[in-house]
Amino acid sequence: MIQTVARAFFHLLAANNTLKSLASRFGMRGGSGFARRFIAGESVEEAIETARRIEAAGMTTTLDYLGEAVATIAEADAATRAYIKTIDTIAASGVERNISLKLTQLGLTIDRATTVDNLRRILDAAAAREFFVRIDMEDSGYTAVTIDVFETMWQQGYRNVGIVLQSYLRRSEEDAKRMNALGARVRLVKGAYKEPKEVAYQAKADVDAAFVRIMQLLLTEGTYPAIATHDPAMIDATREFARRRGLAPAEYELQMLYGIRRDLQAALTREGLRVRVYVPFGREWFPYFMRRLGERPANIGFVIRGILSDRGQ
Ligand SMILES: Cc1cc2nc3c(=O)[nH]c(=O)nc-3n(C[C@H](O)[C@H](O)[C@H](O)COP(=O)(O)OP(=O)(O)OC[C@H]3O[C@@H](n4cnc5c(N)ncnc54)[C@H](O)[C@@H]3O)c2cc1C
Repeated sequence: MIQTVARAFFHLLAANNTLKSLASRFGMRGGSGFARRFIAGESVEEAIETARRIEAAGMTTTLDYLGEAVATIAEADAATRAYIKTIDTIAASGVERNISLKLTQLGLTIDRATTVDNLRRILDAAAAREFFVRIDMEDSGYTAVTIDVFETMWQQGYRNVGIVLQSYLRRSEEDAKRMNALGARVRLVKGAYKEPKEVAYQAKADVDAAFVRIMQLLLTEGTYPAIATHDPAMIDATREFARRRGLAPAEYELQMLYGIRRDLQAALTREGLRVRVYVPFGREWFPYFMRRLGERPANIGFVIRGILSDRGQ
């Protein structure tokens, strides 16, 4: 209940432009801006530097050039070109070739056909450089169309692409079966948006129970699934189920977000499990940052401490 209210509150704040411009001014300032806890930097070079550190610690990465809900076709085109440039820069750097993106960044709020064209441009550039591209899942208004766009690309023969399913959505178990039948790679998450009860479970216990059911479906009949969570109970359930099924650590991966539970990321890596860290970067970090605050209201403490110490300097 508290979590649902917190999430709604932070989603409301995320829509506030004054707050956005204030936060944007201070959040990434210098090396100690408060948003740096979750955001690798505003430039791709900073993200690559972060990826190098993570890889040196034995983990893998996926880089997310932040942006979502662009309002014009010109912005969607600019984001697409920026992604293609990012692909070139990452390829030249030698860090792992794996990126995540959002379809509303490519124009999904405006026009499906434009989005498909933009995604195709990115997938072609990615395929030429042997990248894997993960399509993040956004709020439930976009679930059906995101899966539909993904399946369109799949039917056109693209295989360097995967999708995300959210366990809080009532529909996701069926979607998981459908993706497993295709042979598509799925990242399973709990879900980060404020959703109505008609489409999403509201109680943590129900979201967790669905997470375990879908994780089992993916580990049984899926293709190299990614189980993305910081919840030790979900990770234990995954590790235990994989052990019982006789799965080798190389047959699935765990994923976590940059800046969250670094201790757990390191411990699981030491244990020999595959851990991939999601590394977001770019100037459009505010909505992503607010979702991280909404997941854990205690995070607001470090923001306030960060702002106060900044003002004191
Ligand atoms: C790699 C990756 C990719 C993702 N992609 C998507 C996506 O495409 N679409 C989408 O809707 N969601 C996505 N998410 C977010 C996800 O839906 C959850 O909102 C988020 O992971 C928190 O849920 P949890 O599974 O960690 O469990 P929770 O039960 O929320 O948290 C478990 C524990 O993790 C720690 N924790 C969780 N969140 C935070 C935080 N913000 N700050 C500090 N500690 C925290 C706390 O210790 C908490 O007790 C992604 C998450 C990951 C890890």
